[in-house]
Amino acid sequence: MDMMLEFMEQISQAEQIAIGGHIRPDGDCIGSCLALQQYLKKKYPKKIVDVYLEKPSSIFSYLKGFDEINTTVSEKNYDLFLALDSSSVDRLEFSEPIFHRTKKTLCIDHHISNTYYADKTLVFPEASSTSEVVYEMLLLQEKQEGKTEEEWIAWIGSEIAAAFYTGLIHDTGVFKYSNTSPRTLEIAAQLIKTGIPFTQIIDQSFYEKTYIQTQIMGRCLLESIRVMNGKVIFSALSQEIMKFYGASSEDLDGIIDQLRIIKGVEVAILLHEVKTQEYKVSMRSNHTVDVQRVAVYFGGGGHKKAAGCTMQGSVYDVINNLTGLLEEQME
Ligand code: AMP
Ligand code: MN
Ligand code: MN
Repeated sequence: MDMMLEFMEQISQAEQIAIGGHIRPDGDCIGSCLALQQYLKKKYPKKIVDVYLEKPSSIFSYLKGFDEINTTVSEKNYDLFLALDSSSVDRLEFSEPIFHRTKKTLCIDHHISNTYYADKTLVFPEASSTSEVVYEMLLLQEKQEGKTEEEWIAWIGSEIAAAFYTGLIHDTGVFKYSNTSPRTLEIAAQLIKTGIPFTQIIDQSFYEKTYIQTQIMGRCLLESIRVMNGKVIFSALSQEIMKFYGASSEDLDGIIDQLRIIKGVEVAILLHEVKTQEYKVSMRSNHTVDVQRVAVYFGGGGHKKAAGCTMQGSVYDVINNLTGLLEEQME
């Protein structure tokens, strides 16, 4: 049987389902979790479907189910755990204990670096987002039951569509990154048929910045350093600076993209100190460099052109280690 239909079969058999995503959840993580939860609640009103995510940013508060997201671990037991957009089990972070004590676990993802930690794993590295994979999985099941895509879209309505759409725009940079496929745009076309306020969704969740976020971005750009003949650019934020601006990691969205689009840059790196001498590393590449390979080497993961990891040491150590590996790919 098709793997997607096998997943749908397992989901339909479970009565109590937990859905979890990765640490510091982004738009795709939140969008895919809520789209799946809301779909399951609508299709199977008797099922209990709970979402577990680290406190999500309030910019996503327009999504249905946002206020019911569990941000702390509970003692509840589930028949099935669905891990979304999480390439390794430690990425589930606080919901990891629930994952481990649940008998059946399934993972739905689009990270090529997925470690196949669940009982069964569905990874489509060529999909723009986990939201796209979830959409295709649900659609396949509905088609099996005789519905057309148009009929299904009309049935899911604008609330579920908004969650899928949020996932798509966040992982594609509003349909701009190279992971955007003709199919991604076809799905977006279907979603806007439901009447979602897409302009508002894009502005509110993607482009709008607070004054503090804009100041930090300015500071990062001002203090950025180019190395390797301008092919690599990096910027680092210390805990001290973060504290000075009263900022947290969710305030850094968009900075790395601004570094990446600088003329001549092949790889952009943003370091953000999460503990003393421990950095969350974000990397983006423009053309040939596979930053995922570098991230995996340091225990992280991601995609060819967008990846991340956590590294210890001074900014100098971290950049030296990263550029050492990047150089090998740029010769
Ligand atoms: P970020 O730079 O945090 O926006 O992440 C870019 C991509 O790499 C996303 O798809 C993340 O899911 C993935 N990623 C970031 N950090 C890690 C990590 N420590 N381990 C595995 N994947 C990561
Ligand atoms: Mn994600
Ligand atoms: Mn994703």
